[in-house]
Order: sequence, then structure tokens, then C-alpha cells
Amino acid sequence: MTEFARPAHHHRILVVDDYEPLREAFKRMLETDGCSVQPAGTGFEALTALGEERPCLVFLDLALPDMTAQHVLQSIGPEGPPVVLISGDAESLAGAFSRAIAGTLVKPIDRTTLAAAVARHARCAVATSAA
Ligand SMILES: [Zn+2]
Repeated sequence: MTEFARPAHHHRILVVDDYEPLREAFKRMLETDGCSVQPAGTGFEALTALGEERPCLVFLDLALPDMTAQHVLQSIGPEGPPVVLISGDAESLAGAFSRAIAGTLVKPIDRTTLAAAVARHARCAVATSAA
């Protein structure tokens, strides 16, 4: 286990979107950048994943099949991980949300944008005692 090319901590990212090709694309791009990715296709799956392990960052699609993004945000709560909202519609991202969000991204989202969002917003649950 001697791998010096990458940092010891691989950001754990939760990607919540009901559109599977997007989850796959995000996973591929984020893993290329050394992150570990947990995909979720519904709000329920997202909340289940959040109950098991805290991610460094959550990408949350506004349009989920089973609950609103507002509800997911509320359930994550103010002490939860930072959330970046994603949508295909820039206007829907301009509204007020039930919890503070780290940022928003409008689809389509390329690897550079994604990597920049992770670098800017990820807040690690471990090894952040200096923060
Ligand atoms: Zn991290």
C-alpha cells in the first residue's frame, strides 16, 4: 500500500440524481480525480446513504422522483455536509431553499467544473481539526 501519487484522503462524494447516465458520468469524472463516489437515484436512497456515512460533499439534483430537493435539504440539516444543487434549468436554481447551500451548477457539467466545485466546497468529516 504505497501510493504517493494521490493524497491520503479521497473525498467521499454523494451524487443524487434520478438520471442514471448523469450519475455514471459524475462517478467517472470524480473517480478520475481520486474521489470515491456514492450514487443515489432517489431522495430516499440519498437519506439512507447519508445516515450510513457522512460524505465530504453532496451533489443534489433539484428534480427527484420521490421527494423534493427541499425536503432532502431539510433532512440533511444545518450540521450536515455541504450541498451543491444541480439542475438543467438555471432559473429553478435561483429560488430560496430550506437550508443553506454551498453552490449551484447548471447542466451540462464538465469535469473541470465538477473538480472545481469539489475543491471549493468539499468539507471533510475527518482530518479537519485545523479548520
Ligand atoms: Zn474529503
